[in-house]
Amino acid sequence: MDDKDRGAPPDLAPPKGTTDLLPPESWRVSRLARLAMDTFAGAGYGPVDTPIFEHTEIFERGVGATSEVVGKQMYTFTDRGGRSLTLRPELTAPVVRAVLAANLQRGPLPVKLAYAGPMFRQERPQKGRYRQFYQVGIEAMGSALPAVDAEVIEIGSRFLASAGVETTLLLNSIGHVDSSCRTGYLKLLVEYLEEQRDRLAPVDAERVHTNPLRVFDSKEEATRAALEGAPYITDHLCDDCAKHFESVRTLLEDLGVGYELEPRLVRGLDYYTRTAFEFVDAGGQQGKAARLGSQNAFGGGGRYDGLAESLGGDALPGIGFALGLDRILIGAGGGPDDDVAGGPVNAYVVAIGAAAARPALSLATRLRASGLGVDLDLMGRSVKGQMKDAARSGARWAVILGDAEIASGESTLRDLTSGAESRVALEDLAGLLAP
Ligand code: AMP
Repeated sequence: MDDKDRGAPPDLAPPKGTTDLLPPESWRVSRLARLAMDTFAGAGYGPVDTPIFEHTEIFERGVGATSEVVGKQMYTFTDRGGRSLTLRPELTAPVVRAVLAANLQRGPLPVKLAYAGPMFRQERPQKGRYRQFYQVGIEAMGSALPAVDAEVIEIGSRFLASAGVETTLLLNSIGHVDSSCRTGYLKLLVEYLEEQRDRLAPVDAERVHTNPLRVFDSKEEATRAALEGAPYITDHLCDDCAKHFESVRTLLEDLGVGYELEPRLVRGLDYYTRTAFEFVDAGGQQGKAARLGSQNAFGGGGRYDGLAESLGGDALPGIGFALGLDRILIGAGGGPDDDVAGGPVNAYVVAIGAAAARPALSLATRLRASGLGVDLDLMGRSVKGQMKDAARSGARWAVILGDAEIASGESTLRDLTSGAESRVALEDLAGLLAP
């Protein structure tokens, strides 16, 4: 192909709202994801991995067509076979779909699953809000007992604390879809919103009949002011929902998990029932109203007792959460890990002279095979250049190989922190280097 046929070179910047994750930032993200999955595994949540894209109707029926995510933010496309597919904007609906597809609801319950991965929403990008972002989360399916709510919330709050963010847990109950409380309350709320219609921002006035609960999610000043005297669902819960909520609170107190009741918390997705919660930034100086804005939420979740049925499956009550890794990393600032420059490289093999290059590669390979993190020069650098590269790699040790060392089956081991050196037999190296 001629140069002129190629046209302009492609834009090398990633698409708007996305980023290229590269070291050292990518180390922080993968460490945090691992910490999350280990924390979740420690409570019996096994990893689940579903496709990056799903049939669009999984989100339309699962998350709900009137939700902002489904209505405005999905990356939906038609594939070459004419199917409508969507890049996953969230993972609860796909996980429930996967559980139903495998009939796990007929096996031992609850089914407890954990995930970490990218989600996609076409939102207006800003700090802490991207079009591809990373979530970790868990889902516990098959039990309607309040103990599951408490377990799930405690795990989220413990993980966030160990990730180094200071959070406030906001807690609410939004009643059960089938129960008299939700229906009765919605009537009251719509009446109230009708009275206030002139004071509502236009986008919210439109929601009064399509999705009145969602008006509480509004970031519009006018709407927030109009909501001052709105009835709260927590004052209208039916006996069953009220009892469930009370048990969840008692259990959280047992577990030492602090919370604030937030009767305006409704969460953005339609499938929630009963318990709804959000972990918001407690580090900032923001007032309570500002807190309900989405940007300072590290994550949240809730019960979704009707979701499996809306996907056409058996009844399968569930509860879970999703936490945004991008925001947790912003909130945590520099963590204790950040003074480690790079990844898990523990030793750097330095070759003195051309003859040492081959034995250096063999030695690095043997050490790697024994489970150590080892790097070496692949650019033909001078010894000085290799020592500099060793420092950059974050390795604790330089393993120096020259003619004398090779002849005696040894290496010079230098502690890159203290500068101390000693001669060590090659066969003893792996044991000495183990972190
Ligand atoms: P949601 O279920 O929509 O409340 O999302 C749960 C968490 O995922 C949020 O609290 C954020 O931490 C994170 N999140 C959601 N959307 C985005 C986004 N567009 N960019 C970055 N993080 C997001």
